[in-house]
Amino acid sequence: MDEEKKSCPICGGTFWIETENGVKRCECYREFLLNKRFEFAEIPSAFKNKSLDAYRPLNDYLGRALQISRKFVEEFKNGNTDRGLLFTGNIGVGKTHLATAILNELIKSGYRGYFLNFIHLIEKIKQSYGGNQPHFSEPKVFEKIKKSHIVVIDELGAATPSEFVFNKMYDIINYCFSEGISMIFTTNYPLRKEKSQKKLTNEKLDSVAYISKSNAHFLEERISERLVSRILGKCKEVVIKGEDYRKKKGVY
Ligand SMILES: [Zn+2]
Repeated sequence: MDEEKKSCPICGGTFWIETENGVKRCECYREFLLNKRFEFAEIPSAFKNKSLDAYRPLNDYLGRALQISRKFVEEFKNGNTDRGLLFTGNIGVGKTHLATAILNELIKSGYRGYFLNFIHLIEKIKQSYGGNQPHFSEPKVFEKIKKSHIVVIDELGAATPSEFVFNKMYDIINYCFSEGISMIFTTNYPLRKEKSQKKLTNEKLDSVAYISKSNAHFLEERISERLVSRILGKCKEVVIKGEDYRKKKGVY
């Protein structure tokens, strides 16, 4: 279809066409809805056309990550929309490519998805609450999350929010998991294995103090043990190791 032309030559932009048996939807209506969903998703332009088919796995980790991503999409379309993924790995290994490729594919299949960069999410929460005002306005971002089937949060832990913002974010993520909204996270920060694999009891979680260390290396140190534990309760961790990782290995 000619993209320059705004209204459809078949229906003239009304989305309806007349037939012998009455009116029916024009073919262009599907495309209109698809474009609406893509507008809603706010995927950065560099990732708008990413697909799983175009992903070239350069090593076994990437091959496995691609396989898991494909399986995730397939199961999502089969109704298993309640779970998520956490991609961990160094910068440049293709985590955001995979996350947005999954999102693109699900949007094309009719689901509503929403892409959020972690730092932007923090900013949006801060703006909405405007300090510790007594009457909060719910973040607009939350309204969009509520309407989504799947939410991608890119670069989890890229900043260490204040405790107030952190708690709001915890509420948002908790809401998603409680309401069956799927979430995909990417992070450049590794999990502290020995801790994350142990299941923390609620009592222990409450006792974990909020930590904010902007120079911390592990994800738990950056966004708290409590939040990581909540995420791992619903999301499968997908470790991606690439070239950069191998070069740095042994440094930490
Ligand atoms: Zn039309």
